[in-house]
Amino acid sequence: MMKYDYLIVGAGLAGATAAYELRKAGKKCLVIDKRSHIGGNVFTENVDGINVHKYGAHIFHTSDKKIWDYVNSFVEFNRYTNCPVAMAPDGRLYNLPFNMNTFYQLWGVKTPEEAQSKLDEQRREAVERMKADGVTEPRNLEEQALSLIGSDIYNLLIKNYTEKQWGRPCTELPAFIIRRLPVRLTFDNNYFNDFYQGIPVGGYTKLIEKMLEGIDVKLECDYFSQPKEEWHKVADKVIYTGEIDRYYDYQYGALQYRTVSFETVGLECPNYQGNAVVNYTDAATPFTRIIEHKHFESFGNDVYSNPKTIISREYSKEWKPGDEPYYPVNDARNGELYARYKALGDLEQDVIFCGRLAEYRYYDMHQVIAATLEKINKLI
Ligand code: UDP
Repeated sequence: MMKYDYLIVGAGLAGATAAYELRKAGKKCLVIDKRSHIGGNVFTENVDGINVHKYGAHIFHTSDKKIWDYVNSFVEFNRYTNCPVAMAPDGRLYNLPFNMNTFYQLWGVKTPEEAQSKLDEQRREAVERMKADGVTEPRNLEEQALSLIGSDIYNLLIKNYTEKQWGRPCTELPAFIIRRLPVRLTFDNNYFNDFYQGIPVGGYTKLIEKMLEGIDVKLECDYFSQPKEEWHKVADKVIYTGEIDRYYDYQYGALQYRTVSFETVGLECPNYQGNAVVNYTDAATPFTRIIEHKHFESFGNDVYSNPKTIISREYSKEWKPGDEPYYPVNDARNGELYARYKALGDLEQDVIFCGRLAEYRYYDMHQVIAATLEKINKLI
């Protein structure tokens, strides 16, 4: 076999970014992936003219012009803006993220001033309780949510959804998770605050294909199918984008992840739920959300003349060996464990760890690219 400069383990966004940059710098790369397709979890598959997000909804958003220009240099992006709605335990629909529409639907308040005073009243108890405990910063997701948005919204739209998604009480989850969601006193249902947002025209697989153009890719090739020393015969250096604990054979114990499974069905119906994302924020519904894929691409396309639609119900559960890891569980115990693995990683001369799984971070796509670019730029 030919000797490469770099072996890149994983053909997802981190691996594709690394491969593209290294190739541009004149390095010879081999990308391997154990799956039968490129793209990792951003992979989309065209079924009946609909690009199905096979591993869950991916909406690209960033305020970093450099990153936006970067992804747009490979493919065009549409103007999709994520505006999920929540089906709440009271049987009503609410707009997300938490904004004037939500406050109106819930409390009937019509002005920002009315909403603010309602929010203050809702938050008071949590803020006072934290003060009494001498706490200045919320210690967990529940405290964060209650002090940010108050008990009505916490109970209706946050608590059950979060506990379904993470399989843990909100009191045991880190506060930062809920800070991902904006709270606004405007009638603005855009889920993200970022300056740029969209979805690649033709799907994410096209983006990854472009990034990997001219690079050797071997699919259905598992890095762990042979000893690491064997791979050293293939390439001088390794960019590893899989789980870091797996790389070190779980020697300090396994990190925890959440996995997601999808029940994807085709329906003879042009428009099932009227929106790409509907969250189910009650405890009884076993799934967290339903994605209707065609809505991601309804801009400039008459997707509703297609009499068929495809939906995916998303179920969240604790990861066990053999499952696909999706979300790192960034609590204190896992943070300490990850620090030990990272310390091993830092000692490596020829292995660089990139991406959500290797860095054990709840990264969005733009953050994966930014972090990978930074690491690769240091190399070249
Ligand atoms: N969240 C919630 N209710 C919702 C949507 C989100 O409580 O209807 C909380 C939940 O804790 C979740 C976090 O917000 O883990 C982040 O949600 P996001 O949609 O950003 O998660 P992702 O799309 O990455 O799964």
